[in-house]
Amino acid sequence: FKGLMAGKRGLIMGVANNRSIGWGIAQACARHGAELAFTYQGDALKKRVEPLAAGIGSKLVLPCDVTDMASIDQTFATIGKEWGELDFVVHAIAFSDKDELTGRYVDTTADNFTKTLFISCYSFTAIAQRAEKLMSKGGSLLTLTYYGAEKWMPHYNVMGVAKAALEASVRYMAADLGPKNIRVNAISAGPIKTLAASGIGDFRYILKWNEYNSPLRRTVTIDEVGDSGLYLLSELGRGVTGEIMHVDAGYHIVGMKNPEAPDI
Ligand code: NAD
Repeated sequence: FKGLMAGKRGLIMGVANNRSIGWGIAQACARHGAELAFTYQGDALKKRVEPLAAGIGSKLVLPCDVTDMASIDQTFATIGKEWGELDFVVHAIAFSDKDELTGRYVDTTADNFTKTLFISCYSFTAIAQRAEKLMSKGGSLLTLTYYGAEKWMPHYNVMGVAKAALEASVRYMAADLGPKNIRVNAISAGPIKTLAASGIGDFRYILKWNEYNSPLRRTVTIDEVGDSGLYLLSELGRGVTGEIMHVDAGYHIVGMKNPEAPDI
């Protein structure tokens, strides 16, 4: 598989540090020969993303805040100028006010609902619009979702609603872009301790619950999500679009608590 991504160029959006899921996917792609560009949100993250990108030979590291359409335009204009064509994009971006990732969903404010849905769902659509123009030979778009889109989870609240919308947008965009051989998929990752996850109430409990109750009796790593991402982004996944692929140690198939699980 060494040359699986040889000659392919991809944009990775949403790396904050070396624990980011986007970084796990980036490393898997780089190991298999892809040339990568990265975006970061704000100067504080620039200092973290630049050395990571340099470590895997990436020269294009661009600022992009997805709340600003001009910033997304600028990113794709630069990619277009530097590369001409683009083979894949990873969207590993989500945001919600921490105060509303605890307590009840029903208390969500209009302001945070709008912000959460915009950043966590619409930004993928906005990115796909621009990526399409650089994918005349086809391509692959990948986003990250969570099981809280399908089932109620404690504290996930408005983010669950945003992920449900994101998953629906994957299906609509897969249908829209399929005739151009642009595939659109999502990975529904099991819980992983990242910067974004630390904003979710009782996250340690969620991790333990998954460890005790998933079929594989553990949680997943960013490398495992990365390898599954590689499949969807490469020719291995060429027949797959509109898919929400669970990479969660099998947790989504479980209907009841494991009777042998210890108390948490
Ligand atoms: P992370 O904190 O490492 O990454 C989240 C990224 O979103 C950060 O890089 C941040 O800069 C970016 N972001 C937020 N608002 C932005 C904006 N306005 N403009 C540009 N970028 C912005 O955390 P992560 O867990 O790696 O998150 C990546 C994706 O994976 C998210 O969509 C998250 O919901 C999803 N996910 C995470 C888990 C988990 O348990 N960690 C599970 C399933 C899905």
